[in-house]
Amino acid sequence: MSELNPQFAREISKYGASHFNACYNCGNCTAVCNLSEQHANFPRMFIRYGILGEKEKILNSKEIWLCYACGDCSESCPRQAYPGEYMAALRRYTIANAEKTGLARLIFTNNPWAIFITLLIAFILGLTILTIKPDETIARWLFAFIPYEVIHNLGLAVFVLTGITAGAGIYTLVRSLMKKDASDPAAVERKFSFSRTILALKKVSIELATMKRHQTCDTEDDSYWKHKLWLIKPWFVHWSIMWGFIGLLIATILDFIFKDPATVMWLPSRILGTLTGILLIYGTTMAVIYRLTKPTKSYADIKLADWTFLLFLWIAGFTGFWLEIAVMSGWNNLITQIVFLIHTVISMELILLFAFSKFAHALYRPLALYFYYYRQYE
Ligand code: SF4
Ligand code: SF4
Repeated sequence: MSELNPQFAREISKYGASHFNACYNCGNCTAVCNLSEQHANFPRMFIRYGILGEKEKILNSKEIWLCYACGDCSESCPRQAYPGEYMAALRRYTIANAEKTGLARLIFTNNPWAIFITLLIAFILGLTILTIKPDETIARWLFAFIPYEVIHNLGLAVFVLTGITAGAGIYTLVRSLMKKDASDPAAVERKFSFSRTILALKKVSIELATMKRHQTCDTEDDSYWKHKLWLIKPWFVHWSIMWGFIGLLIATILDFIFKDPATVMWLPSRILGTLTGILLIYGTTMAVIYRLTKPTKSYADIKLADWTFLLFLWIAGFTGFWLEIAVMSGWNNLITQIVFLIHTVISMELILLFAFSKFAHALYRPLALYFYYYRQYE
């Protein structure tokens, strides 16, 4: 018989899973979760894993990434065990376990350290960016105090170190997702199959394009969102943030490749950048409003790491618009230089901290979905 493991429970509680010990295993949460299925049975099963200390089953699971944090399960829990928040905590725990330097762990579990690390990286990035534009007013002022080479090499070191660590973390987590599920005895050893790969990729692409699974979260009769306008539903807010960011990333890459001066609105990259920028600002603004007004239990306890991620996205979108207007209007004053610096620092830090922050779910969720669908066709 399995034994309780209070030490493991204490460990995951640091990531935000503080009430799950109240669970008495009634199964309500799994019954109301529209995303839970026979081969993806959550959140109740994962609460058992947490109580019993089944670390490997949690770390190798695809299920924790299938949850969209809608909070329906938390609303229905008679014991206030907050299973939805528990699933989010397991995702943080898994990201931190894949990242071996301990940086992600610090960011997720220690707020003062998280603030310090975020500001320190922003500071170093800010200095490094100024070495790319040495003629700007702020850069000339800075180089009078710190030599150019020192800043340049420091920035390079931060990029290389975080890049290697992030790459190793992503590799570890992808290997975990590829493992055969211990919770699924029916699963056979996985051999590569081209047809299954295509089928799984097709399903993941449809999910990314439409967030079809996320939409099913609002279909319960007692769901707060069921009769709300689709424009304000959480799935659409989430969809806006995801596609807003992807669109802006593509527009930035196109600008860079084709050296578009960004002074003409009708260039394809500008049209894409403007539309997806609006989408990103809309999505992040709505997400901030929901976190402040807390319409459902899923917004009851928001962690600093979630706030940081969201605010970074919002600032990147807002400052991006400012810069677009500034370039078209020919402004090149000190304020525009500062906005450029903030925009670049925030955007680069988002990418640099990808594997150490909530942002990692943007990669791990599609991957987990891919392996989950692949397994379904076995
Ligand atoms: S609804 Fe609450 S008490 Fe029941 S199994 Fe889920 S977490 Fe446990
Ligand atoms: S938060 Fe939503 S998607 Fe996640 S387990 Fe609960 S009901 Fe399911």
